[in-house]
Amino acid sequence: MKEILKVSDVNYSYNGKKALDNIGFNIESGNFIGIIGPNGAGKSTLLKVLSSALKPDKGTVLLNGIPLSNMKSRDIASCIAFVPEETIVNFCFTCREIVLMGRTPYINRFSWEKDEDYMIAEEAMKMTDTIEFKSRDINGLSSGEKQRVIIARALAQKPDVLLLDEPTSHLDINHQKEIFDLLMKLNRDSNLTIVTVMHDINLASIYCESLLLLDSGRVFMEGKPSELITEENIKSIYGTEVRISRDVKTGIPGITIIPENK
Ligand code: ADP
Ligand code: MG
Repeated sequence: MKEILKVSDVNYSYNGKKALDNIGFNIESGNFIGIIGPNGAGKSTLLKVLSSALKPDKGTVLLNGIPLSNMKSRDIASCIAFVPEETIVNFCFTCREIVLMGRTPYINRFSWEKDEDYMIAEEAMKMTDTIEFKSRDINGLSSGEKQRVIIARALAQKPDVLLLDEPTSHLDINHQKEIFDLLMKLNRDSNLTIVTVMHDINLASIYCESLLLLDSGRVFMEGKPSELITEENIKSIYGTEVRISRDVKTGIPGITIIPENK
């Protein structure tokens, strides 16, 4: 399979403090990869580097063989869409206006949206089950509803790679499942490459094809959930005793926290 993203020796520091330390890995086109690791491991920083929102101090990110640093932001945005952890919208925008913003990389500076842009935006809203909100102010929605609209905006970009930072951390179990089922469907049916930071290791284990485990700005391990989610790895990275069991039907590993005083 073709490598869509190739990350080599990436370093990034905030005011001299290293957040990413010689990160290297490849992502194949069509993969569904989860990035896991403790708070402060560098997951969000890595995703921002992949989206080109942050420029690495050292190292390169190649998108289809071309360094991101040599590409125009419009060309990057027609290939990579980013769903941040939290999106703050300061003005009154309807959800349809927000989703249409996803078409920006395709619209000429001096022209307006075309019928095709409206159709693609509508399709993205149908996929994310947000069409009923189209005339509502985005700030009037619940955080879960808002997140689905932001995902619709990313899909309207018609990307090849979708980057998501803990996309379901504010959602209930039903909406978590809905979002990940949708991502899995897009991954399978449209060969959309998914790179998502995951907070919940069990969800990561269920949905991701492969995982990248970060610790202190470094890649601790990469592999399939079945290889990587072990009692030893969780203890070593998170410092927590857990029990791993395997689903009787799928063999997917799941973790159970062991309380101190029970
Ligand atoms: P994660 O998403 O894994 O929790 P982050 O990438 O947000 O980790 O953060 C990695 C490290 O960089 C942490 O030590 C964090 O405190 C630091 N950091 C993140 N964002 C900033 C920022 N804007 N300014 C300074 N330090 C930051
Ligand atoms: Mg984060």
